[in-house]
Amino acid sequence: MSIPPRIGFIGLGIMGRAMADNLLKAGFNLSVYNRDRLKTTFFADQGCTVAPTPKTLAAGCNVIFTMVADPAAMDAVVEGPEGVFAAGFDGNILINMSTVSVDYTRKLRDRCFLKRVKFVDCPVSGSKPLAESGKLIMLAGGEEKTVEEVKPLLLAMGKAVVYSGPAPSGTALKLCMNLIVAGLTSALAESALLAERLEIDPKLIFSVLGESPALNCAYFKMKERNILEKDFPPAFALKHMLKDARFMISEAAARGQRLPVTEAIEELMTKAGRAGEGEKDLTVILKTLAEDYRMS
Ligand code: NAP
Repeated sequence: MSIPPRIGFIGLGIMGRAMADNLLKAGFNLSVYNRDRLKTTFFADQGCTVAPTPKTLAAGCNVIFTMVADPAAMDAVVEGPEGVFAAGFDGNILINMSTVSVDYTRKLRDRCFLKRVKFVDCPVSGSKPLAESGKLIMLAGGEEKTVEEVKPLLLAMGKAVVYSGPAPSGTALKLCMNLIVAGLTSALAESALLAERLEIDPKLIFSVLGESPALNCAYFKMKERNILEKDFPPAFALKHMLKDARFMISEAAARGQRLPVTEAIEELMTKAGRAGEGEKDLTVILKTLAEDYRMS
């Protein structure tokens, strides 16, 4: 990696935009690519180079971050004639922060090895507010030496780097963490619904959570407005948690394990997705529970 590094950031969605902005604020030399070019305007206005393709971006950089939706999006930006690998990225560093499957990450790690690209498997824990405040937790897998090398970059976007071991351990850890988030969200939504059916104000739940030393969790606070106002602007889109739940279930099944609670949440999220709620925050499952699970 050159000092100072020339950083390329691919994927300026809800998370990527805030994360790239924090790299910029930390004074790093940043260039960007996003499929929808409108989302690059903010960075062009700050003086960043906007690359027309991932290949062009990689040609001018020695560290590339990817923060895109899913494995298909990753393939679209790293593979093919306009992808990162087509730039001859040998000796440089690819850091994937998108949440993909363990299986996909293993293949990407092997692909990087063949292309002589150093790979860091680095999904993040934390949603839009933590991305904006630069307080994400970086779940970093890969060669320890490479992770150490890029740590100053990661710490421009996060408050801690948890080294998880060789890739794909970062992705494995991320799926374990998101399983907890899926459970917390569905517990919150069902609890609010039960309160309504019992004719008490769901607001009381948040009052008790706020007072409880054991349950006073920032995640609940973050989702309070969505649950009470039944308004679900996306911080973490349902479609992304649905993808992750499917990864959890299939990775566990491949190892002879069922995850019955996560399977039930996946079914609930599938119903929400089919009803066209995929782009909304995952707390939209409250609506699905109320509408689709009402006994006549
Ligand atoms: P998002 O707002 O939906 O952004 C997705 C990004 O992926 C956009 O830049 C989008 O480009 C790009 N993309 C999608 N399909 C593509 C394709 N075929 N080719 C090229 N680019 C493509 O998602 P996000 O919330 O930022 O999340 C990004 C990743 O982080 C996901 O894997 C998610 O699971 C994970 N994550 C999210 C959160 C969260 O709270 N939001 C937290 C931790 C991890 P366009 O702008 O052109 O559509």
